[in-house]
Amino acid sequence: REPLLRIDELQTHFFTPEGLVKAVDGVNLSVPAAKTVCVVGESGCGKSITARSVLRLVERPGEIVGGSIHWRSNGAAPVDLTSLDPDGPEIRRIRGGEIGMVFQEPMASLSPMYTIGAHLSEALRLHRDMSKEEAREASIALLRRVGIPQPERRLDSYPFQLSGGMCQRVMIAVAISCEPALLIADEPTTALDVTTQARILDLLKDLQEQNDMAMMFITHDLGVVAEIADEVVVMYLGRVAERGTAEQIFEDPKHPYTQALLRSIPTVRGSGERGRLNAIRGMVPHPLQRPAGCPFRTRCDHAIAGVCDTSSPPAVSFDAQQVAYCHLYSDDVFSGDVQSGAAG
Ligand code: SF4
Ligand code: MG
Repeated sequence: REPLLRIDELQTHFFTPEGLVKAVDGVNLSVPAAKTVCVVGESGCGKSITARSVLRLVERPGEIVGGSIHWRSNGAAPVDLTSLDPDGPEIRRIRGGEIGMVFQEPMASLSPMYTIGAHLSEALRLHRDMSKEEAREASIALLRRVGIPQPERRLDSYPFQLSGGMCQRVMIAVAISCEPALLIADEPTTALDVTTQARILDLLKDLQEQNDMAMMFITHDLGVVAEIADEVVVMYLGRVAERGTAEQIFEDPKHPYTQALLRSIPTVRGSGERGRLNAIRGMVPHPLQRPAGCPFRTRCDHAIAGVCDTSSPPAVSFDAQQVAYCHLYSDDVFSGDVQSGAAG
């Protein structure tokens, strides 16, 4: 069955005065209907730019320069979002209508000038063609749905009168107001305290199940991934390193970067000894100094000289779901056992 969203060989580059930054450089991933796909990676890996590319919110000097993003809404034929005018009516109908979005900073996403009720009514009236009274009733129901107490009173509140967690709930209410088939959430809990973070995650999980909504959830936090993901896409320096089901990624990671990430997080399953934290050696290279060959080779303990530094790693499929981009598994190079090597 065709996925709801399919990204093929996406390239989003930034033409900065300092030089060309290939923020997203050949990303492949898909989001099936009603599933949660977590896109995980360190800051600067291109996960947010991938999300913004889908929504056509990449601003200059950034530009989508290659690949396609097929969106299949309501069983209609897929449209390539990269072919749409980023300010045109089609993408505006899809953005906020068919694809909802929640970002990291709830305060920055809500306008300080408008009440909570105004934010919700605007979304509802724009995408669902409701009257003022209908929108008011629907807004109250939405606020109740996302767990905001006394929703009738909250309609007249301004964002600054609410806590960060409450603002994020309002943002989620706005995002789901049009019953989107897909919700793109970019680090939606990162700015919140741990307790609020857990509540917001629970809320998103519930909404996802109740609405049969798909989620593309962007995070740097593997604990969050373990909590909510059906499928995981691990990104590094503008490329996908590995993707698979949550079980495959946590129980049997193939890519040295995925393995290193898991070892660096003490609290998730499959990460070895509790409390031991192994940081990945070295630093993410500056995007202007992207290494040739495999982008991870400057930090990889398994790099093969003469191979990893010269050619891009191929996609190696372990089964229909799990794919790693790594020379270690490529038949024509080497048949090493990275698993035992990484554990030692
Ligand atoms: Fe390491 Fe080479 Fe695999 Fe890259 S391709 S992750 S450098 S072994
Ligand atoms: Mg980001």
